[in-house]
Order: sequence, then structure tokens, then C-alpha cells
Amino acid sequence: MSRFLSSKYDSLVPYVPGEQPRDRKFIKLNTNESPFPPSPLAVEYAQNEAPNCRLYSDPELTELKKALCDVYGTKPERVIFSNGSDDMLNYAFMCFCDEEHPAAFADITYGLYSVLAALNRVRTLVFPLREDFTLDVSDYTNINATIFIANPNAPTGIALPVIEIERILSTNPDNVVVVDEAYVDFGAASVMKLTEKYENLLVIGTFSKSRSLAGARLGYACGNEELIKDIDAIRYSLNPYNVNRMTLAAGVGALEDDEYNRKNCAVIIENREYTMREMKALGFELTDSKANFVFARHPRFSGEYIYSRLREKGILVRHFSDERIRDHNRITIGTLEDMKELIKSLKEITEE
Ligand code: PMP
Repeated sequence: MSRFLSSKYDSLVPYVPGEQPRDRKFIKLNTNESPFPPSPLAVEYAQNEAPNCRLYSDPELTELKKALCDVYGTKPERVIFSNGSDDMLNYAFMCFCDEEHPAAFADITYGLYSVLAALNRVRTLVFPLREDFTLDVSDYTNINATIFIANPNAPTGIALPVIEIERILSTNPDNVVVVDEAYVDFGAASVMKLTEKYENLLVIGTFSKSRSLAGARLGYACGNEELIKDIDAIRYSLNPYNVNRMTLAAGVGALEDDEYNRKNCAVIIENREYTMREMKALGFELTDSKANFVFARHPRFSGEYIYSRLREKGILVRHFSDERIRDHNRITIGTLEDMKELIKSLKEITEE
């Protein structure tokens, strides 16, 4: 840290993203990317747009809004885009958290929430998940806080039923409830439609997972018009051209080719079920994941041991050192071939 850094960042501990190795070829199951390429239409549109990069992108993102509304049946005034959904989460912290509105979230959830709280100097209310990593909705009823819920949760993959989310929404009418649906396409129910019923609901989504555009960086939020206007004011104040031309075009292509997205999700779900079955047979204990990853521990081996033995064998998974989950690993679902390789390696490791 230089002597010039503002003291407001003294206690900031930056988020540590999963490794993106360059030196060695791994079967990469550590950052929940899609194993499939983006839709050919997304690639074609992005390529066609490249020569136009001399000009700024459309700050209104009109075409992208229309394409998203066509898929999700919502209105352009109710949606907004960002440079990846991490960026949107930051907007949510900036807009809806302050002295009177601390941020509430689970102890085991997406690690960026606590980092964004620190970055925005927002107080946090952290509610421990139950022993089995399920969320106790009663922790979140009638609390005077802005609530952040990843559904399905990360890194556990456990989904919260819509009715439970509605309970949180209806008991906190004066607070914004942010539902982060990064992994919703892999088997959980979206609450996007509920944005018409609850003015305090903000649903955040991403093109990084099911739509195979992690590297393009495209996120969105859907909510009441007034909430969206608030975020737009911040977006225009920070970076009105926050979605670049090629990403905008790729996003339109991905949405127009929604069939491709659905087919890929079905394959991932099938591969997840295969992986869970095979891992259980090897003695692993797994959460009921509805995401594009599994979360597993083995009663006889530490999480660190499994992680490092897999790494030696050329398979990269995600290990977290937090006390409660250090025995676990989060393993992204890849192609069936990737998963067969994973199972083969896990068999060798657990049978040695
Ligand atoms: N939410 C959750 C729960 C995530 O796991 C991730 C991926 N790390 C994100 C949001 C952010 O994804 P992106 O910025 O690529 O849209």
C-alpha cells in the first residue's frame, strides 16, 4: 500500500478470484465458467461489431434491452445492464446501503458481498446458514437492512424456494432485497416475474454462466422502474458506456439464440447429476446443488488434500479456506468428458 492511498481503504481486503492459469493446461473446473463456446450468433454479432469500435457504445443499450425483454417478458424501463454482474452488485451496494441500511447476507455465500460492503463502508449483518448450509428465512424477516441472497447460493448450490423469497420480500417492504440469480438457469426458479409484484425486489443476472460469455462481461438487473432509475443515475455518474460495443452485440446474439442456452443448460444439469452420482459412490457428501457446480467433502480426506491432488493430476477446482467450508471443494460442471476425467482422478485419490 502506498502512503498516498486514502485511509478509507485501510481495512479493505480485496476479493480473490479463482485462478486463471496461463502456464499449464488444466481441466478447468474452478470458476463456474461454461464448458461450451458462446452461441455462434453471439460470436458473429460481436465480430461484425468490432470495426465500429471507433464509436462509443449506445449508453441506453436499447437493442440489448429489447432482446432481454423478448426473452424474459419484461419492459425496457425495468432492466439495466452492467460490466458483469459484479459491477451491478456494486451499484446495488452504492444505491441501497448506507448508515441506516446495513447489508445483510449469509456467512457462507458469494465472497464479493462482504468485499463490496467494506469498499462502500457499509455495516453488515451476517447470518450463519444452518449446519446443513440451508438458509433460515426467519433470520431475514422484518430486518432493517438491504438483503443480498444468491439463489442458488454459492458455493453451496442450494436453492431457496420462491415462497421463502416472497416471505423475505413481504416482511421487509421498506428495504431492498437483492436476489443474485447468477446460477438460476441450472435448475432453480427465478423470481424475475415477482419484480412486478414487489417494488423492493431487485433481481441480478449474468451472461457469464449459462450464456458462456464470462469474458465478455455482461450483467443485468431487473426491478421496479424507480429502482432501475436509481441505478441508472449511478451508472451515468460512473461510466455511461459501461457495456462495450462487442459485448452489447454478443449479448443480443446470445438472447436471440436462447434455444442454444437452454440446450447447454440441459447438458450441464445432466452432467451434474452424473457427477453427483459418481462422487457419492466414492464416498463424497454433496449438497443438493441446483447450480453449474457441485459442493463436496469426503469424510476421510481434507478439502485441501483433494484440491492439491486433483491439481497435480491437471484438474483445477475451487477450495476455500473459510473455517466452515475448508473440508469442501466447489467443482464446476464441465463436459461429460471432463467429468469422467474428474471421477477417474477422484477414484485414484480416494482408493490410494
Ligand atoms: N454472483 C455470484 C453468486 C457469482 O458466483 C458470480 C461469479 N463469480 C457473480 C455474481 C459475478 O459474475 P459476473 O461478474 O461474471 O457476472
